Amino acid sequence: MSDCIFCKIACGDIPCAKVLETADCVAFLDIAPLAPGHTLLIPRQHIVDITSAPPEMVTSLALELPRLAHAVIQSSGASGLNILQNTGASSGQAVFHLHIHLIPRREGDSLGFRWNPGSYGSGEGEAMRQRIVTALSSSI
Ligand code: AMP
Repeated sequence: MSDCIFCKIACGDIPCAKVLETADCVAFLDIAPLAPGHTLLIPRQHIVDITSAPPEMVTSLALELPRLAHAVIQSSGASGLNILQNTGASSGQAVFHLHIHLIPRREGDSLGFRWNPGSYGSGEGEAMRQRIVTALSSSI
């Protein structure tokens, strides 16, 4: 897509700190890292987010994740990693070309994530389960 910054990175029109490329995807350092080594993995082909990504595209990204995760952890001196994919503005997505964040983590780092577990009221979990199963059965 002509006005997509990640399409421009994928085709080399805009420079990036590239760490990996295949026929289908590119990985490069995030320009504003949450931690040193913060890396983005993107498909070359433009797609807005995970909900519209063809399974083959997701497969091509997933195939690279284990070795990329290992390399990012090893090279950054981190002890862990968050793999994050923001979908939609409400989730924090700012670039609307599918990308996967690999964010190195260290014990005691100041990144943090709010993770406040909730619970379902009576019947709510089952109703939710049924809505998701129904949505899945009507998807292609
Ligand atoms: P998100 O909020 O999930 O859409 O994340 C978009 C990410 O892209 C942010 O972490 C930005 O710092 C990063 N980003 C934006 N432009 C560039 C660029 N030209 N090169 C590398 N990373 C970028």
